[in-house]
Amino acid sequence: MPIPNWATLGYLVAIALFILGIKQLTSAKTALRGNRVAGVGMLVAIGVTLGMLHSGWQYVIPAAAAGTVVGVVVARRVAMTAMPQLVALFNGMGAGAAALIALGDFHRVTAGAHPSLDTIGAVTILLSCLIGGISFSGSLIAFAKLQEWMRGTPITWPLQHEINGVLLAALVGIGVAITLTHGGALLIIVFAAGALTLGVLSVLAVGGADMPVIIALLNSFTGIAAAVTGFVLGNDALIVAGALVGASGSILTMLMSKAMNRPLTNVLFGAFGKLAEGDDGTGGAVHGNIRQTNAEDLAVLLTYAQQVIFVPGYGLAVARAQHEVKELATQLEQRGVRVLYAIHPVAGRMPGHMNVLLAEADVPYSQLKEMDDVNPEFPRTDVALVIGANDVVNPAARNQPGSPIYGMPILNADQAKTVVVLKRSMRPGFAGIENELFYRDNTMMLFGDAKDSLAKLTAEVKLQAAA
Ligand code: NDP
Repeated sequence: MPIPNWATLGYLVAIALFILGIKQLTSAKTALRGNRVAGVGMLVAIGVTLGMLHSGWQYVIPAAAAGTVVGVVVARRVAMTAMPQLVALFNGMGAGAAALIALGDFHRVTAGAHPSLDTIGAVTILLSCLIGGISFSGSLIAFAKLQEWMRGTPITWPLQHEINGVLLAALVGIGVAITLTHGGALLIIVFAAGALTLGVLSVLAVGGADMPVIIALLNSFTGIAAAVTGFVLGNDALIVAGALVGASGSILTMLMSKAMNRPLTNVLFGAFGKLAEGDDGTGGAVHGNIRQTNAEDLAVLLTYAQQVIFVPGYGLAVARAQHEVKELATQLEQRGVRVLYAIHPVAGRMPGHMNVLLAEADVPYSQLKEMDDVNPEFPRTDVALVIGANDVVNPAARNQPGSPIYGMPILNADQAKTVVVLKRSMRPGFAGIENELFYRDNTMMLFGDAKDSLAKLTAEVKLQAAA
């Protein structure tokens, strides 16, 4: 059915708002506004779509209301650390919706007395079903791994990639058969089941820790599936919105792989995190003694410093210590200490993780320094306070060619005069490897939950000021 002019105009407004929103998301200062602008765009698109609805209100309204309630409640309640799995789940829903729309359209054009499935229609429906199906089931596996409902390490078996290749070839064969015969209800069901299986098999092989990259990739798949569904339905807004998601998802995937210094093929097929038995990933290079400190001594060190750099990592998110970090920084600044925050592009477990956390605590943007800007500052820094970070400050990335993180650009915290690491134990981080930084002469460990340690430190700093 042709889309009326008023609706095309409405979709154009929605598209403009999406693009404006994404543009504003590129800067931390305007990101919140960008999110709202894109949200208004989505409201306009939904309003226009509902305005064109002639029948079926009794299904659409309750379904939309239920989706809205679930979305609002879940998004409000989710912890920052659980954001990657929430994104995976929502992404899977979008992909599943795209695949279902394609299947619905297949039924519409092939059932009845006058089937009308042409070649272009068949190819778009099949693509939407294939990409949407892979992204749906893959996202659910990603969710299950991140939520620890299943083993997070890569699940591998012999001839894994070959089996996936054969499955993909079989799907292409079935797709050709459907296109040539202009139909086949059973074939499309087998096709959809095959796409779902391929999504499961592909993501099982990826380690839980690489999931955020896979989610970004699946996100771009969902965007492509939605754009193709837009062609199926002749809906411009869906085509453009899908293309935006597809493009931004691909760019994000590439940026994340680059920041981890791993080719995407290694993320997809490298089974990262599956070390050989007895291997700690260090090549036996890490040994020695560690030096411990306490809040009292550290407070003295910090108050007499001229420049302190906070290096936040995943542990900051786990401890939810962003407000305590800000409080400590404020106390130090009141005593004339210059405080900076070193932000590694893949610190935490999702892109922008540290920026989001620190923005929540109202840390000024001017103090957040990206890796390239802050690295030259470390040699003239008195104390680098590493708060729940591990891999992003691991010198093995620079000097151990056998290490899984070798080549990853890191924050040069080790070049500060003194390094103090706040963490709970000697357990490794995401990459599962030892960190030689903890054993260096200029490093001290302050064990404990980051939130508790920071609160104690701040109290000590205040005490010393009062003394
Ligand atoms: P890591 O995962 O390397 O280390 C986090 C450290 O935080 C752990 O060693 C842990 O030690 C400590 N920790 C955990 N909970 C607490 C707590 N409550 N209080 C204090 N410390 C705590 O984190 P990084 O941020 O340094 O590195 C991120 C890693 O994640 C990189 O390897 C990156 O490649 C990877 N990654 C990042 C993505 C992203 O988009 N940001 C996406 C995918 C992967 P302990 O248990 O002893 O306390």
